[in-house]
Amino acid sequence: MMDISIEKIIIESLALTKDGVGIFNRDDRLIYCNDAIGRLFGMSAKEALNKSFSELSADCFNSSKGINIEFTTLEAWLSHASAKRRSCPYRAFEVDTQEDKWFLVTEQIVHNDYLYMYITDITEKKANARALQLMSEQFQKLATTDSLTGIYNRRYFYEKAEAEFNRSSRKNKIFSIMFLDLDKFKHINDKFGHAAGDAFLKGFADNVQTHLRSYDTFARVGGEEFAILLPNTDKDNASIIAERIRASIETLIIPFENQSLKITVSVGVVENSNEIKSIDQIMNNADKHLYQAKCNGRNQIC
Ligand code: GH3
Ligand code: MG
Ligand code: MG
Repeated sequence: MMDISIEKIIIESLALTKDGVGIFNRDDRLIYCNDAIGRLFGMSAKEALNKSFSELSADCFNSSKGINIEFTTLEAWLSHASAKRRSCPYRAFEVDTQEDKWFLVTEQIVHNDYLYMYITDITEKKANARALQLMSEQFQKLATTDSLTGIYNRRYFYEKAEAEFNRSSRKNKIFSIMFLDLDKFKHINDKFGHAAGDAFLKGFADNVQTHLRSYDTFARVGGEEFAILLPNTDKDNASIIAERIRASIETLIIPFENQSLKITVSVGVVENSNEIKSIDQIMNNADKHLYQAKCNGRNQIC
């Protein structure tokens, strides 16, 4: 049997593997590399060999191949890289290339000052992770949004209200909740059709949104029922906002086909207090206030 050294087998294997292997000497000059490392710097292994890390970087910086260096000057990049390079015995990080590939790079300091570099192509993994992330964001949006109006849905509102209730109880903070119900909405559907009703719901939501602050939570909690969570707001201030909304809806005209749709809204407003022990209690109170506003003749706040 032919006698062959382990070193030879390793060198031969490294030349064949898809992963990249390179060794930089104490002066940061590449004294060994396979093809994959050459490609990381946008060249062949032969071209890369004996170049210093600075020279390899300069080649990438001045061409459209190899590592993506997003620095305005090469000097800025080299100073950034050298602060990290060899800063600890083992480092792992990700880099992307101008060919739109991603690599996981590990650097190990061996034999005093030699730097052993190992790279793996993670382009596909990155793309999958990005697709998953996008999908999860879309699912999250679908799960929390009302598709007709684009505002939050009932489930999200109740989650958010409960969280606010717990936070406010802990910190002794005030918040208010508003329930809004369109008056005689059934008439719109009966008179102009369901599509007109839908257009109104959308127009209503758009209008209300303009009266709210970025930290308020506005949701459609039923067919023509809406709710608003107003953190750091007492009942008096919430009532001012409610009145603004009521008055604005009273004059709102929603054009639909050749028609001009008009409607009013009734609002129930409540604030949290020490006597209230659960978010359900607050919701029930808001509902009772809304019912009272309806009984009192609609188009008003209670
Ligand atoms: P009130 O002043 O007492 O609230 O009277 P109302 O007619 O608004 O109340 P009611 O609960 O009797 O009717 C609500 C109507 O809202 C009935 C239903 O057809 C309509 N509705 C619920 N969801 C939707 C929707 O998504 N689109 C449309 N167009 N109509 C809806
Ligand atoms: Mg209703
Ligand atoms: Mg109604």
